[in-house]
Amino acid sequence: MAMYCVKCRASREGKDVAPVTMKNGKPAKKGKCEVCGTTMFRIGA
Ligand SMILES: [Zn+2]
Repeated sequence: MAMYCVKCRASREGKDVAPVTMKNGKPAKKGKCEVCGTTMFRIGA
């Protein structure tokens, strides 16, 4: 899944992507940048 890495400032394929629910109850996805390992976050199911 394409996610945005704030550290690379580029769109990356997230790895270990897992669905999460935000505090406001909306679905999101969390993953790690395949390049630098930074945790990435993407809003939406
Ligand atoms: Zn990165």
